Amino acid sequence: MPLVKIDGLKKRFGDIQALKGVSLSINRNEIYGFIGKNGAGKTTTLNIFLSFLRKDEGEILFDGKPIDFTNTNYKQKIGYVPDVPAFPPYLTAREVLRVAAEFLGIENIDEKVDEVLAFVELQNIKRKVGGFSRGMKQRLSIAQALLGDPVLLVMDEPTSALDPVGRREVLNLVRRLKQSTTVFYSTHILDDAEKICDRIGLIDQGEILLETDMKTLRKKRHIAAYRLSASLSDNELKPLLEEIDGVLDVSIDEQGLLFVLDEERTQNRVLQTLIDKGVLIHSFREATPSLEDVFVEVLHENAA
Ligand code: ATP
Repeated sequence: MPLVKIDGLKKRFGDIQALKGVSLSINRNEIYGFIGKNGAGKTTTLNIFLSFLRKDEGEILFDGKPIDFTNTNYKQKIGYVPDVPAFPPYLTAREVLRVAAEFLGIENIDEKVDEVLAFVELQNIKRKVGGFSRGMKQRLSIAQALLGDPVLLVMDEPTSALDPVGRREVLNLVRRLKQSTTVFYSTHILDDAEKICDRIGLIDQGEILLETDMKTLRKKRHIAAYRLSASLSDNELKPLLEEIDGVLDVSIDEQGLLFVLDEERTQNRVLQTLIDKGVLIHSFREATPSLEDVFVEVLHENAA
């Protein structure tokens, strides 16, 4: 039985049908990436799941039963990490956690606070939260969410306001969390999802377009994309490639030249054409499709 099962969730805000029947399931001890563009319906789904918002239709089961947040037990079982956490600036991290632990009715408060502070590596920081970086605040927010030894951690875009260092720290923490908990991880940053998620659900305009595990995704969605470097610069090569029949798309990114072919066999024509023009090929290799490639492809298929 999955830990979380959402079935046919619908929500309308006035004229906007924000959720059109979202269904997904999350297994125990996996990091489930809930991915989609801004406005796709991620926060609305999470807010309904957490009882911050009422649903219009649909069913949500946690461990096979409807969630009831009036039961304190659920407040401990499900931890929540928002995109930008807010804490009273005049408290220290330890004080923030003590207040939260008391609210959750946790026993052995000192021991638990020490444990979660050490997990997020804030145990030696004595200053008040008002002087924390965003990354430190996010780590404190994760520590707070872990106080009740949650079975599930719900994270809504937890890295969206962070710099690269803060982002990496949070991703590393999430990876380590998998040993003890399950993570419902919402993000529009595909690079993050690719680094940490075991399964993903792709939401667009209030609908799940794809739900799969990352390994299957990589195997099934083989995209005929390639990288090439040669005696000409990428900018000189780009127009030459664009003229070749069967070359669908050519772009230049931080790793160099990337192009997509209609089918694998077209690579011979590409190489022959360049060689005939006197170009010396330095390297030619298949590019592994990124989650972003897949994302764009699935959105395309759905629009077609
Ligand atoms: P983001 O990453 O920008 O938060 P999201 O995927 O979380 O995006 P939602 O915030 O769930 O998306 O929004 C889904 C749709 O519902 C959007 O069209 C949004 O404008 C609309 N919406 C969300 N909350 C409300 C509200 N309280 N009133 C009216 N419309 C809303």
